Amino acid sequence: MKKRIFSGIKPTGDLHFGNYLGAIKNWIELQNEYDCVYSIVDLHAMTTDFDPQTLKTNIFKAACNYLACGLDPNKSILMIQSAVKEHTTLCWILQCLTPLGWLERVPTFKEKSLQQEENINSGLLNYPVLMAADVILYKAEAVPVGEDQLPHLELTREILRRFNGRFGETFPEVLSIVGKGARVKGLDGSAKMGKSLDNCIYLHENYDEMWAKISKAVTDPARIKKTDCGDPKICNIYSLHELFSTKEDLNYVENGCQNAEIGCIQCKKLLTQNIDNEFAPIRTRYFEFLNKPDYVLDILNAGNQKASAIAERVMAEVYEKIGVK
Ligand code: ATP
Ligand code: MG
Repeated sequence: MKKRIFSGIKPTGDLHFGNYLGAIKNWIELQNEYDCVYSIVDLHAMTTDFDPQTLKTNIFKAACNYLACGLDPNKSILMIQSAVKEHTTLCWILQCLTPLGWLERVPTFKEKSLQQEENINSGLLNYPVLMAADVILYKAEAVPVGEDQLPHLELTREILRRFNGRFGETFPEVLSIVGKGARVKGLDGSAKMGKSLDNCIYLHENYDEMWAKISKAVTDPARIKKTDCGDPKICNIYSLHELFSTKEDLNYVENGCQNAEIGCIQCKKLLTQNIDNEFAPIRTRYFEFLNKPDYVLDILNAGNQKASAIAERVMAEVYEKIGVK
């Protein structure tokens, strides 16, 4: 039997290259090797201020993006978190096993609390417990994620060990799968690229839209004129080249920058072109899926049912172990 993996993205906005390189690209590559459950984690999205209509649209757009990037519904389960009620039931049980101190120490709780001072809700604190429930509900053994999620997965492991310790071996250990694009920086060159920050290139953007942003993006701050030699190691544009460009292009921009043979504009144009080459077909498919809502909703319904079947089995076992059945 194949091992199972679970992963999800919050529908808090349009998907960006951080989500693609940190998560979705790995999801697609892992589809043959693992039994995969890929989710649109809409309950998690509610920890941030949200508008119901926008949430609905974002859920649909996320599904179109996953499919356009190559999620194959014949190989993997594509599901919406809120459609499988066991996520919240298991979350409650796990909350009762999780000391408050573990949650207060989580770095993302501190970060998000600063980002949304007016809305420090308890969902924000309990976020990692819901994530633990998401993963272990399917007895997943690995989770492909970006680096920012590693503290959450550490907590998932602690929570499941506590469950296993108290009620008997039930859930397998969970590994994280972190790829090459583990922490893509935003175009400001400092913060992580993130939906809640205005520093992203979105997956649906065309060449001109990308160029408008990339042309203004921060590079090596010490390189002011084209005749100054640059340092690719501290340039965010170079780190994006590392994720999208061929070895030849990488050598070309590395040498050209270090020896002041090419300027930042030329380097950025090559990057924009390379991203566009990889993404033009994905973008076309994305817009095709957007225009086929019935087709996409059928896939989601089928995925929700498959996920429910697994979740019901696991929850029956959990109920028995904790003595309520
Ligand atoms: P938000 O800003 O609302 O938290 P987000 O863009 O961080 O949104 P999430 O839904 O929190 O997106 O994360 C979804 C997945 O994308 C996770 O696996 C996360 O690690 C990954 N991810 C998000 N941003 C990046 C990034 N900049 N680099 C690499 N991976 C990322
Ligand atoms: Mg995030």
